[in-house]
Amino acid sequence: MIVLKITFCDSLNNVSFWGIKPKACDSWLWRSLLKLRELAEKFIKCNIGNGAAAWFWFDNWTPLGPLIKFMGEGGPRALSIPIEAKISSVYDLQEWKLQPPRSDKALALHVHLSTLTPPNTLDRDDCYAWEIGGKNCGGYNAGRTWEVLRPRSTIKSWASTIWFKGSTPRHAFNMWIVNLDRLPTKCRLASWGMQVSTHCCLCSSSSETRAHLFIDCTYTKVIWSFIFSKLQITNLRLSSWNELMKWAASRSTSCPQTLRLLIVHALVYTVWRQRNNLIHNQITIPPATIYKDIDRQIRNSITARSHMKKFRNLMPLWLR
Ligand SMILES: [Zn+2]
Repeated sequence: MIVLKITFCDSLNNVSFWGIKPKACDSWLWRSLLKLRELAEKFIKCNIGNGAAAWFWFDNWTPLGPLIKFMGEGGPRALSIPIEAKISSVYDLQEWKLQPPRSDKALALHVHLSTLTPPNTLDRDDCYAWEIGGKNCGGYNAGRTWEVLRPRSTIKSWASTIWFKGSTPRHAFNMWIVNLDRLPTKCRLASWGMQVSTHCCLCSSSSETRAHLFIDCTYTKVIWSFIFSKLQITNLRLSSWNELMKWAASRSTSCPQTLRLLIVHALVYTVWRQRNNLIHNQITIPPATIYKDIDRQIRNSITARSHMKKFRNLMPLWLR
């Protein structure tokens, strides 16, 4: 869209898109486009041909960046080159037409231009490229551009237990929400002022919090007992969400980390789904059936990813 607007603007006003000052009477869309220039300019590189289309001051055609930014607003006066000059107007008879340098920046520009052969009218037209990391993308590339622009935070310590390689996407997404404690449990709904009973619908004996739903609830405990029995784990008592995550992140020969993560992800997803099923559809399913569903999901995950190193030996450990 910006490229279209550049063409549009050039043909109408013969001014550079990059030098336009926003006006109060401009449309919201146009002002929004002008605001995006700061983001876009770092990606657009001008490759000089005959210099007839490229703007001397505004286009990014030297390693110094747009010269109006490098030299500042006083640049055109210092070099006696008009703000609306095209590059083709700044050379003559194979020579650059520049005033003697009077500042370090002007000297740096002189030094750089002295390494370039001035454009020739017989050369090809100037062209523009979308570059990321110095490489031409062959046109605008939304994915790679977003990777450069998107805000980044430090990697969280729990990230590898949520977004591990081979995870089931819907399980991992649900786990991410749960780990941030963003599930709309009844206690959270009540804390927002909603008039709801906070009792857990699976056991009807405690308040529905994250720790209760996935650890303390008698319904969930039955499922955990099936799982621990299958893994031949005894004397393990989980009492908080952090403890559960700690167990999921640890490893042992008989229960590798990938298997633990598959189990926790599948259990959290399936118990939450059953909780919603009970509330919205009044469908009661015994914990033994939920366990079988979790078992099936884990087997399917391991089978589907058997080509991956970390999944190769999991099936015998899960089926024992
Ligand atoms: Zn409960």
